[in-house]
Amino acid sequence: MESNIPSWSLLQIEDAAKLLGFYVGPGCGKLNFAGPLEKLVGRVKDIKSAAAPTHINAYDYNSRVCPILGYHAQLLPLDKRHFLLERIALHTVLRAPWNTFRHSDFFQLHKIGGPKFRSFNVACASALYRTATRTVCSWQEWIEQMTINAKEHLSVRHAATGQLYPDCWDSPSFAHNLKWAFEGFGGDETHHTIMIRGTPRLLKAGTALKHCLATKNSGVYPAPGSEFFRNFRSLQKHVYSILMEHIFPDEPHTQLNSLCFGRCIKLFAPYEVSTENGVDVNAALNLLSTTSGPIGIKVVKTWLNGWATSHRMHEDNVHCCLLGCRDEQDSLNHYIHCPHLFALQRFLFSGISENPLIRFGIQTPEIFSFKVISCLFSAYHALKSEVRSGKINMHYQTWLQSAWSVFANVCKAEAGELGVSTRAFSLVKFIDFLITGRLPSPTNNLLLHDHIET
Ligand SMILES: [Zn+2]
Repeated sequence: MESNIPSWSLLQIEDAAKLLGFYVGPGCGKLNFAGPLEKLVGRVKDIKSAAAPTHINAYDYNSRVCPILGYHAQLLPLDKRHFLLERIALHTVLRAPWNTFRHSDFFQLHKIGGPKFRSFNVACASALYRTATRTVCSWQEWIEQMTINAKEHLSVRHAATGQLYPDCWDSPSFAHNLKWAFEGFGGDETHHTIMIRGTPRLLKAGTALKHCLATKNSGVYPAPGSEFFRNFRSLQKHVYSILMEHIFPDEPHTQLNSLCFGRCIKLFAPYEVSTENGVDVNAALNLLSTTSGPIGIKVVKTWLNGWATSHRMHEDNVHCCLLGCRDEQDSLNHYIHCPHLFALQRFLFSGISENPLIRFGIQTPEIFSFKVISCLFSAYHALKSEVRSGKINMHYQTWLQSAWSVFANVCKAEAGELGVSTRAFSLVKFIDFLITGRLPSPTNNLLLHDHIET
């Protein structure tokens, strides 16, 4: 440009330009999803910083985060990196420490009274499939044209590998994306970009989808744009549900109860977590499904070691027990057995079992113990945030009194909301209880309701 038209020497040449919201050109692959994904990550961060209750977060996620990629997903595929992104986003929305849940667990939470999440990866794959089979079916002719051109102008290697465009293009054409979706998300194995596109689970689900549609069409997989697809009601919704069924199946080895069982074995040691010992996670989860509000999520997070303790979150400064055990770590493994937590539980609530398996609801489960776990969960996290923000400084002499008061007050507030009765809390009475094991008498207790000392 400089030597031929010197006056145009400052002209900028880009390898992709935007047309109707999509980048087109040899370098469009890296640009196309960049904007929408940035927006998606931003919205998840907004949800995180708003610190709203988790069911509001979930509603926000389904209605404001999932649809962001919908427009681009009609012509572009997501790949396995976005499955990881979705898992991170869902942990953030539920404020759960990383790896508390497996990816499929998020889509089972509605069974225990939790929110029903949508998967943006599966929604995007369904949108691409719908475009390929109903909306833009001319991709078959485009592929034919590209094949003729490739034979004429490209090397034998391109024809052999099925790459019908020059190496300078950083991503497959829209036509190839649509072909890939129509062929069940597996496409041509030799395709040079296939490695980053699909996941084995998506391919498996795509194969099942093809099979299912073929069955509906007298055993023949219908052609794109055929009457079958044109007349299919709610095609995209139907595709979404079939893909969900196969990507996140509700099978024994993926069910939430097997994960809870496995985690509880480590969490409750040395107590034996086994069916012979009366532990029935299945029954506990069934009972949990009858609860409403956030109880289910809090209890399941407890069984899955999902308290945001400094040990669990791998914080630089791992505290000791926030309830005053000097040589014990701030970790849920300790809190299950923590004598101070147990004492607070017994002081505040009546009918608390000595057996942690019963106390934490996995043996002889009761709605009452679920409600207590929910209170403990909230109280612990309120205390943890006071410690994190520096309002409670563990180097001060009186920190423990403040910690117990915060814990007890939050516990009582939540118990009030859940309709569980509690004893009035006073530090003096609690310390007396720690020393003597004597619970305040009911008469004193009545008075204490009016003058809660902290
Ligand atoms: Zn402790």
